[in-house]
Amino acid sequence: MNNGAETMSENLPPYLSPSSSSLFDQCAMKWKFRYVDRLPDPPGEAALVGTFAHEVLEFLLQEPPQKRTKERAKELAGIIWPKIENGVDFLALTLGDDGVRNFKWKSWNAIEGLWKLENPSEVEVQDTERDVRVELEGVPFRGVVDRIDKEEQAVIVADYKSGKAPKKRFAGDKIRQVLLYAAAIREADGELPSKARLLFLGQETIETEVSEETLKEPLERLRNTWDQLNVACTSNIFPATTGPLCAWCPFVTHCPDGEQEVRQRFKGNRVRNDAPALEALSLI
Ligand code: SF4
Repeated sequence: MNNGAETMSENLPPYLSPSSSSLFDQCAMKWKFRYVDRLPDPPGEAALVGTFAHEVLEFLLQEPPQKRTKERAKELAGIIWPKIENGVDFLALTLGDDGVRNFKWKSWNAIEGLWKLENPSEVEVQDTERDVRVELEGVPFRGVVDRIDKEEQAVIVADYKSGKAPKKRFAGDKIRQVLLYAAAIREADGELPSKARLLFLGQETIETEVSEETLKEPLERLRNTWDQLNVACTSNIFPATTGPLCAWCPFVTHCPDGEQEVRQRFKGNRVRNDAPALEALSLI
């Protein structure tokens, strides 16, 4: 039989991804619920729209440049759609006819939104959906890079985003993520990308230079998160970080601190009416 310490060290993940790292930074307890306890956390409609759009664009950008048209994107969407609509996550949304139409409309808006940012026929694509597993600053890292482009011989790392673009000063977390991808590509291929881009479909491109200087903070932060994660998994102490996001946390009914936070905010009229925790805690 395992003793407690052995059991807990088994909880340490084999690698750290940018999303896992960011979740741990946000709230270690939430990280535990998702990655250790594996409580159900089905993606909502917005995340599934993103998945659908990502997949269409992945295949579109694998086409020869002259075939990267909206017509081809529509054909690809038609080919991929049955997989989406029959997936358990989509079925769990229980959308009616209008809901399904709305879902398709949002998805097409995201797909077509690429043309607002660039002409895909002019992009020199080196790779799509590249699964990179490397060690960064001693941390086992894994990331799936949406696209690696070549521009005037320079390598560019690009990531699609279907959600609302943040103001640049609030984009730190997402910029950090794409910079970590750039660091991983350097580790894997031996060449440092020159730029990292976030393509907010239909909205804007947020771009940052990649250099030793810009990589420093994301790499230090990754190392720091990994160290804290090791401590948490060994001690089985995962602090709860309460705040406004508790009202949107899918695990709030499992978390006494988060529940208390939401109840206080609700009393003070400081929770949006559409926050899922209100229904989960029977407050509305
Ligand atoms: S409810 Fe709040 S404190 Fe609890 S796990 Fe979720 S985000 Fe963390």
